[in-house]
Amino acid sequence: MNIENKFPGKDITSEDLETRFPLAAKRDAAHKSRFVVAGVEFGGDVVPVFAGPNMVESRELILDVAARVKQAGAHFLRGGAFKPLTFPYRGAKYTETREQGIEWLKEARDKTGVPVVTEVMEEKYLPLVAGVADILQIGSRNMQNFPFLTACARTGKPIMLKRHYGASLRDWLGAAEYILVEGNTKVILCERGVSAPHTHRATSRFLLDLQVVPAAQEMTHLPVVVDPSHATFWHPWVAPMALGAIAAGADGVMLEVHPDPRNAAVDPLQAIDYEEFAALMKRMDAVAKAVDRRVM
Ligand code: PEP
Ligand code: MN
Repeated sequence: MNIENKFPGKDITSEDLETRFPLAAKRDAAHKSRFVVAGVEFGGDVVPVFAGPNMVESRELILDVAARVKQAGAHFLRGGAFKPLTFPYRGAKYTETREQGIEWLKEARDKTGVPVVTEVMEEKYLPLVAGVADILQIGSRNMQNFPFLTACARTGKPIMLKRHYGASLRDWLGAAEYILVEGNTKVILCERGVSAPHTHRATSRFLLDLQVVPAAQEMTHLPVVVDPSHATFWHPWVAPMALGAIAAGADGVMLEVHPDPRNAAVDPLQAIDYEEFAALMKRMDAVAKAVDRRVM
């Protein structure tokens, strides 16, 4: 692709595509990665859905959610045992479940057959998390922790790279290149909202950058997933943004689902419940069909 650009260093240039992230860059207009993770294809006709609680709060919770989201058609179970929480103080309810949580995720996957994506935050926990996760999630806050990206890449595990809420598409693709250059080709990008001054609602923390879906797909062959839960921080906006993401051509959707959302330990305002999730799966499938894809 030949890109005329007056602002090299900020917007993406032809030189970036050729020399700074040649592995992430598309070779031609039709170039799109297709790869399979735990039996689920990315970049193909089916739009995979990741669903589950923000945090793996307890064994009971994660086993129940795994069974229910699977029943509704989810392709992956999500949930963090290691959490990047904004403040260091925790009551019992907010305590990360860590090694125990990873064990419960394994049990949930073994019992239901639903593959698992979960965040890893520190290199010392990589062997533990990579031993269970089907996809390693690199959180927004770690997007440019370059030595960590390299270490994650070297596990050979598929990686979901969440976009930092202040990062440009150029920065994001540069981070993806750190993984690709290690020979790890299963990289999934995830848009999760950006920090922007906006007036929709004072308590909205982020703004979903839906435009980055076609913008990223113009430059890269990697699949682009959208997480409307973190982006909106507000459950009534999750369904419309999930439908919008599919209409915009997203290659996957990540949704927070909890049996009792308003009592979730972390981010209780953004999770949807089982019924809402099952209904949304059907509506996402209908929208996907309008853009020649499907969810179920
Ligand atoms: C999450 O998905 O649980 C999470 C913490 O997301 P992010 O890194 O996008 O904030
Ligand atoms: Mn969160």
